[in-house]
Amino acid sequence: MGLKDTLKLTDEDISILSLLAQHLKAMPELAEEKRREANPEGECVICGAQLPFHHYALEFGTHIRKRARFCGLDCLQAFIHELAEAKGLTQPTAQTPHDTGE
Ligand SMILES: [Zn+2]
Repeated sequence: MGLKDTLKLTDEDISILSLLAQHLKAMPELAEEKRREANPEGECVICGAQLPFHHYALEFGTHIRKRARFCGLDCLQAFIHELAEAKGLTQPTAQTPHDTGE
């Protein structure tokens, strides 16, 4: 008799447990990531200022994940604007809210 029968686990229980096990395996990695978020080392990619405790980060890339960190919203906006420009998606009226067209 297996554990499943002994504990009267349903298939749903099993899938939840295996999901939980996966998360537990990923815990040290997550903890390290959280630690790095709490103690930001490094500088804002836009202005080079030391990152404050509350900063912004943008993750991008599909195969190689990159993370750009910003000291504030203005630097994040500047980065997105630069990115859009580089991709030829310039929005000259980025400051104005978009017309929803209703
Ligand atoms: Zn900055």
